Amino acid sequence: MVENEKAFPVKIGLEVHGYLDTVEKLFCMCRTESAERLEIRDSKLENDANSRICPICTGTPGSKPMAANEEAVRKMIQIALVFGSKINMDGLVWQRKHYDWADNPKGYQTTMSGAHAKVNALGGKFKGIEITEIHLEEDPAQWNPDSGRINYNRSGLPLIEIVTEPQFSDSDQVVQWLKSLLLSLSYIKSVRKNAGIKVDVNVSTYGERVEMKNLNSLEKIRKAIDYEIARQLEIVEKLEIRGQKLEEVLPRETRAYDEAKGITIKMRSKEGASDYRFVPCPDLAEMKISKKMVAEIKASMPEMPEVKLERLLKTHNVLESDAKILTRNLELVDFFEALVAEGIDAKKNMAWITVELLRVLNWNKKSLEDEDVDIRPSHLAELIKAVEMGGITTLKGKQIMNDFVPKSFSLKEHKGEISNIDEEAVENLCRQVIDENKHVVDDYRAGKEASLNFLIGAVMRLSERRADFKVVTGVMKRLIGERDDGV
Ligand code: ADP
Ligand code: ZN
Ligand code: MG
Repeated sequence: MVENEKAFPVKIGLEVHGYLDTVEKLFCMCRTESAERLEIRDSKLENDANSRICPICTGTPGSKPMAANEEAVRKMIQIALVFGSKINMDGLVWQRKHYDWADNPKGYQTTMSGAHAKVNALGGKFKGIEITEIHLEEDPAQWNPDSGRINYNRSGLPLIEIVTEPQFSDSDQVVQWLKSLLLSLSYIKSVRKNAGIKVDVNVSTYGERVEMKNLNSLEKIRKAIDYEIARQLEIVEKLEIRGQKLEEVLPRETRAYDEAKGITIKMRSKEGASDYRFVPCPDLAEMKISKKMVAEIKASMPEMPEVKLERLLKTHNVLESDAKILTRNLELVDFFEALVAEGIDAKKNMAWITVELLRVLNWNKKSLEDEDVDIRPSHLAELIKAVEMGGITTLKGKQIMNDFVPKSFSLKEHKGEISNIDEEAVENLCRQVIDENKHVVDDYRAGKEASLNFLIGAVMRLSERRADFKVVTGVMKRLIGERDDGV
């Protein structure tokens, strides 16, 4: 094992940036918007770009930032609590991090990090990896060097940066960890899930660390890490042949991952922190966090995925495999719990969620958290109950569910499929079924209750499921209750 570690000394550390899910931007009252929508700005640029801006977030000379958005601060605290980090309560001075680029007309980004900063929180741990620190900062605007256009909607959005210790040793571990992180952060509804994350990945083997900036998908992160490890090891293997020194060939540098080519390319030697000329922002007061606020947030922290999983196993007695599927998505597990609250037997009807609901959603390429998707647990509960009572077949139930995306409905509203034939038509069908099944009617009259279900089922089939189950039951009972012997 030790031999192995010597032969393969990979260290990976992450800087994870996520969009905090707030209503307003960090230093102004402009509204935020799902950053995913902003990402597809190319098609929307004409009508959506620069629709949520003000002098503050466009860096207009003379404008001054407002006090930091409390909602963003609260979300940062929630995240710190997930990691068990030590939250800094005072001495929190916003810093100006200077750089010149078209996405940043002020010439600086306002952040809680930097050479002289006291960051928001320190330490803590998540899934075996130690957290170095977390801090708040604002996002710059979005500049497209190809079109020359700029969109300030993103400028000033609150970001959280989470820095880990360099304790990962391969890409698999990084990807699994990031998946868990995203899931936990989605449970506390603190980051915009659809906006994705941007991760700076630092990789070192035998030499200095190489930083790959702005990797925005798990797939890219995996490929970039694998490529970079292989590149560094190859260099080291050829070191002696070429008579080079390690410091020369593996210096500290920033490299970009080129997805099309599948390689990393040197961008620059790593600039020192002093290049950013960090200075305290004179326009913003020192930020203080009260014990009361932290206590309040702590008391209202929602269940984390692991805790929820345990509870599902205990209280609903469901299979572990099902519980795992459910807890992989907060909206799904919430849906499940709401369904149970509607009086549905969790274990017996699990497939309606873990198989049917997911099938219909996947088929439509939708998920429960999509804004245009509105599926109510009460509607599915009604459907399941109708199937359980024999009012409709399981197959018909599944067919109806196909139409639950994007919006579910009550069976009562499901006209044209379920209940659009009137009572007179139902009565005719019932009479037909009675005529064709005289012996079953006799059985019923002789006291065999189950025969009623057979007759109702036959009517439902004849009506091609358009008859209302309750109406059929009522009419059928009335008709066959008229016993020949007059009893
Ligand atoms: P910078 O802003 O210069 O990138 P940070 O302190 O913000 O510096 O980030 C440091 C990141 O580099 C952390 O994610 C940390 O885990 C990682 N890191 C530090 N040392 C190493 C190393 N030897 N190998 C790989 N990653 C490292
Ligand atoms: Zn603004
Ligand atoms: Mg960095």
